[in-house]
Amino acid sequence: MWYEKSYRRHLLDMHIDDWDPAFLSEFSGEEYVKNLKIAKIQSAMIYLQSHVGLCNYPTKTGKMHNAFIGREDTFKELISSCRAEGISVTGYYSLIYNNWAYDNHPEWRIVKAEDVGKAPERGAFRGSRYGLVCPNNPDYLKFTEGQIREMAEYAELDGMFYDMLFWPHMCYCSHCCARYLKETGEELPTVEDWSDEKWLLHMRKRREWMGEFANWVTDLTKALMPGVSVEHNVAFSALPDGKSANAEEVISACDYVGGDLDRGVYGYSFTCKFYRSISKNQPFEHMFTRCAPGLSAHTQIKSPDIMKSAFFLTAAHHGATLLIDAIDPVGTMDERVYRQLGEVFSELIPYEPYYKGEPIEDVGLYYSLKSKFDPHSEGYTNYLGVVKTLETLIEKNILCGITGGFADLYRHKAIVAPCLTSEDDYDTERLVKYVRDGGTLYFSGADNKKMLKEFFGALVEGRTKETVVYVSPKTVVQDEFEYFNEKYPMNFRGTAPIVRGIDEVDVLATLTLPYTARSEERFASIHSDPPGIKTDIPAVAIKKFGKGTVIWSALSIESTDLYDCRNVFVNLLKYASRLDSTLVSDAAEDIEITAFKTESSLLVNAVLMNRRETARRVEDINVSIKTDFVPTSVKILPESEEKVPFSYDGKRVSFSIKGLKIFKMIEIK
Ligand SMILES: [Zn+2]
Repeated sequence: MWYEKSYRRHLLDMHIDDWDPAFLSEFSGEEYVKNLKIAKIQSAMIYLQSHVGLCNYPTKTGKMHNAFIGREDTFKELISSCRAEGISVTGYYSLIYNNWAYDNHPEWRIVKAEDVGKAPERGAFRGSRYGLVCPNNPDYLKFTEGQIREMAEYAELDGMFYDMLFWPHMCYCSHCCARYLKETGEELPTVEDWSDEKWLLHMRKRREWMGEFANWVTDLTKALMPGVSVEHNVAFSALPDGKSANAEEVISACDYVGGDLDRGVYGYSFTCKFYRSISKNQPFEHMFTRCAPGLSAHTQIKSPDIMKSAFFLTAAHHGATLLIDAIDPVGTMDERVYRQLGEVFSELIPYEPYYKGEPIEDVGLYYSLKSKFDPHSEGYTNYLGVVKTLETLIEKNILCGITGGFADLYRHKAIVAPCLTSEDDYDTERLVKYVRDGGTLYFSGADNKKMLKEFFGALVEGRTKETVVYVSPKTVVQDEFEYFNEKYPMNFRGTAPIVRGIDEVDVLATLTLPYTARSEERFASIHSDPPGIKTDIPAVAIKKFGKGTVIWSALSIESTDLYDCRNVFVNLLKYASRLDSTLVSDAAEDIEITAFKTESSLLVNAVLMNRRETARRVEDINVSIKTDFVPTSVKILPESEEKVPFSYDGKRVSFSIKGLKIFKMIEIK
């Protein structure tokens, strides 16, 4: 397929209204193609319609943008010119977000609970500009089918991209209500309460419905446009919002995975790992804007080094970069942007032949798309735990990746599963088997009672009333707890679960409570809550289970911003897994190293997590990495004569990376 070797992609955001005759009046397909060539783009995502709902092709089902009436072939010619230049084209189409449909078909609108019986107003998401229509409305589906049919007849495309497959808010239109009643026998819940089984069922249904809609769109597209690829925007699946319902069900309808996110360098790393892990085909597509901080700053451009860091983070995961620019309302593009893009992309091109192999990831971070909520309103969630652990492991030079209900657990020596809930019960058997077969599992929190029962035979009695608690280590793990000890135990902000039934020999640490709870008037120390009451309530427990080991922490210590808690977490993970890290390096905390195993080599990528306008230059990084072959050469890529001196001790190859400026790729043969 076209996407297999396409790493430089582009999208020109074009959500432009047509009330002013100047809008898009200066649009030029020739300029568009010229800019794509300057920027060295391999694939273009081209707007056939937008959130405004106006079509850029002649339509009988909807309305064409005024600017193209009288020049109906503009986009057809643009698409064929791109393809003639060897640039593959995916068509862009916005679902659910459709102002034209919203205005012309009020009966299709998404209805908020408080608006039932009233005419709903615009503005569910990001202000009041967006008109939302419901994918459970059969007439909207008929309209969508008509529009896809028209696009199929208008132009020949390589792929289609569908945007906005998520619930911007819950819909209580008559179709949603009737469908829910029919499928569950219940009324749609209106109160968001994640401790209520009825609300959880509601969320499962929202995910199922959105997935069904996505798969319907995919099947229809493939039937009407034979041979095209289909991608849905899955950005929301990489975001913490559990109500969006953009999850595995939507992802299942994608040939490859992509979505637009601009959440900083660690966010980029998380997104790349998640997309790579969940995509049916590679490369995944990492989308972000050329504007800083985002498209809302229309005239602001990321510095070349900031842009390069984002591009090379994608390269370090062997993914495709899709750069988003936004058109000027009159239809022009700023050529200077394309010159900068071309320069930055030119630096990537020599590495592209080496985007191969499978990533080596010692630790898998279990990311749940079902437990996206905070059961105790204390801020500790699976999402936070995964994102923070990723940061920690990058800083500690431990190779890691994203896993979950969607992935093969056996790719990792150890798995970290923060704050799972009963919504993840469906995967408990697989996790238990993984440990039984020799894996190491770290899990935190007590909201997945099934796992506590399976592994430790333990039960949850309740939670402490104290909102500051302490973890007091037993002697056996004193080293792992560093300077924390029984008298000065580790501090944690939040309540703790009270878990009973864990065999005492398995307990590595217990809870210590402050002298008083915050709810009491009396206190020991006026500013703080120092530790005062020792308990036998387990805080950390470990158990050999089958051929593997399970370690549990009552508190999500991996989620905190406190480096000492995170150090203890890493120490405990190493203690449980006896982790023989594939990678040993002294790379600074702001450098990520990734590694890929190919048939005949090991590829090592080092990338600076740069957040500065000008990236710093890094002198020596020492790397020692395990190989399962006897190395004959270590070479800086792309293809050069530059051989790197190395040593080999029968197990590990060791060498230095010198003078890193944002990115280096090293090949060990
Ligand atoms: Zn609805």
